[in-house]
Amino acid sequence: MRRSPDSEGRIGTGPARRRGSPMRIEVDRNRCEGHAMCEAVAPEFFSVDDEGELTVKAEEVPEPDKAAVHAAVLSCPVTALKLSSR
Ligand code: SF4
Repeated sequence: MRRSPDSEGRIGTGPARRRGSPMRIEVDRNRCEGHAMCEAVAPEFFSVDDEGELTVKAEEVPEPDKAAVHAAVLSCPVTALKLSSR
């Protein structure tokens, strides 16, 4: 049986179809150096104290916030952040 692509040209029910699935923030604490770029980009999700200790305020990222958190992940100079879907 052949399926028709949806309005965005996708076929099937695999991971690419699960647009609404929540993403999670993962931190590699061994890499984090407290630069606070993540906090500057997405302060709703990241906070860095005076000692450079990072706190992730919310590990689960709602769909409307994905772009901001993705930008924060990319801003980290030591690639300590990752967005994963699990
Ligand atoms: S930008 Fe990277 S190194 Fe800096 S606090 Fe955030 S996660 Fe840590």
